[in-house]
Amino acid sequence: MTSSFLRAQVDIDLDAIRHNLTLLGARAPGSEVMAVVKADAYGHGALPVARAAVEAGASWLGTCSLAEALALREAGITTRLFSWLDTPDVDFAAGIAADVDLGISSLGELARVAAAGGRARVHLKIDTGLSRNGCPPAAWAELVEAAAAEPRVEVVAIWSHLACADEPDHPATDLQAKRFAEAYDVARAAGLDPKRHLANSAAVLTRPDLHFDVVRPGIAMYGLNPVPQAEDLRPAMTFRSAVALVKRVEAGESVSYGHTWTTPRDTTLALVPAGYADGVPRSLSGRMDVWLGGQRRPVAGRVCMDQLVVDCGDHEPAVGDEVVLFGAGTHGEPTAREWADKLGTIDYEIVTSMYRPRVRRRYL
Ligand code: PLP
Repeated sequence: MTSSFLRAQVDIDLDAIRHNLTLLGARAPGSEVMAVVKADAYGHGALPVARAAVEAGASWLGTCSLAEALALREAGITTRLFSWLDTPDVDFAAGIAADVDLGISSLGELARVAAAGGRARVHLKIDTGLSRNGCPPAAWAELVEAAAAEPRVEVVAIWSHLACADEPDHPATDLQAKRFAEAYDVARAAGLDPKRHLANSAAVLTRPDLHFDVVRPGIAMYGLNPVPQAEDLRPAMTFRSAVALVKRVEAGESVSYGHTWTTPRDTTLALVPAGYADGVPRSLSGRMDVWLGGQRRPVAGRVCMDQLVVDCGDHEPAVGDEVVLFGAGTHGEPTAREWADKLGTIDYEIVTSMYRPRVRRRYL
């Protein structure tokens, strides 16, 4: 028998995703939009997000692995798919058969794609300064010439990825843009006429000169703003649970493992059945609030594997009352950004790590 009681649940507001993507599309009016849905759409669920993104005007969907792209195809997504980062044992033939555009960084990959059978659509990646994958500038001419001469591939685009676009004044972006322009000239000189794509969310919002033919927003589509500029983005994810038990305790009682917190007065404690196995970081113990009964209330003592305790003072919640762990922040509830700041990370990591078997997902 399964319980209908809310342990931990992630709500995804697909309207917010459509809203954000429409806004991003309007910021890049001359460009096609590739919605980045890798890593299970940053923890929001690849298939529902892909559908919402297409409804909001995305003409491309971007994934990291070919497996992610194939899963979308198999689920009936007919939109153009681009997958860009795979392990050396990837079966390019499956990608070509499923009509997935493939990211290529080297002569070796080009040869494997060409040998895979069928006519592959490829996007050649130039490493303009992130120093991860991508063809180094010194090897670029050889790669584009080989691709141009290879009848078994169609070069759809050249592309690259920015290292520091979330710091709008960082000089690396201009240097990367310069190298990208040079790479384009080399591709043109080799007889190619490729599309260009470079912009992630931050560049969509701050660098119209880098929008080119296709933009690739990820994080902003989920309503999280990578740059300080105010934008009307709506966070799509809310992490919630509910009060499972309420008890009144006297002053001087210690709470949770290690007895790190002791009630300073008589108080009401609410038990919430969400713990670090559900995505509430234990390292937030003693420094996190939840939203309960219309205001923020502190988590008392340590976050446990399956539960945490909220100090409600003289507020008497009812069993079943909603508890928001993080959300959009519009009412004052904690946000994924607040968690990230406290944890010394970025909100990308917070939302992406919410894909957990024990956490229910609901689409609004
Ligand atoms: N393009 C590529 C190649 C990426 O790896 C990513 C994400 O890391 C994006 C675009 C989207 O970036 P962001 O989420 O910062 O918009």
